[in-house]
Amino acid sequence: MEPLTERDIRTSFVNCSKGETKRLNLPKDFTDSPWNDLDFLGWRDPGAPERAYLVAGHDGGLVGIALRVTSAASRGFTSRSMCSLCLTTHTSGGVALMTARRTGEAGRQGNSVGQYLCTDLACSLYARGKKQAAGDGAIEESLTPEEKIARTRTNLTAFVDKVIG
Ligand SMILES: [Zn+2]
Repeated sequence: MEPLTERDIRTSFVNCSKGETKRLNLPKDFTDSPWNDLDFLGWRDPGAPERAYLVAGHDGGLVGIALRVTSAASRGFTSRSMCSLCLTTHTSGGVALMTARRTGEAGRQGNSVGQYLCTDLACSLYARGKKQAAGDGAIEESLTPEEKIARTRTNLTAFVDKVIG
């Protein structure tokens, strides 16, 4: 993706208030992000661990989504969970259920969309093989990195559409 500025990020959010958008903490050193390897910028709020954010290109624009981290999916050390974006399998808390308030009337009525996501939101890097899931969670797949990237992007678009749709 194209490198983002702080202004790009703060003006991209579609599902939280202007006040929240102003207050949210950007990722540390985000200007050094490996933009060429990212399908979206995702991070946990360094000052509020139950909050996470992702910013992605969508329909020629930029869409930022605020997420609540509701729980770690893993129930025990040996259980595995899969991220619904990059389909990376993790052990012990590497995946968490995150919910996004939907935009517009649906959001005002309290509707949200929940997805199991990599807790570090580094899906782009897992898809490219630039980051490995901790432990022995990784399941070998016969897909090429290009196929995994395409799959991650498709899942990301579907998720964004559900939030703003
Ligand atoms: Zn993921």
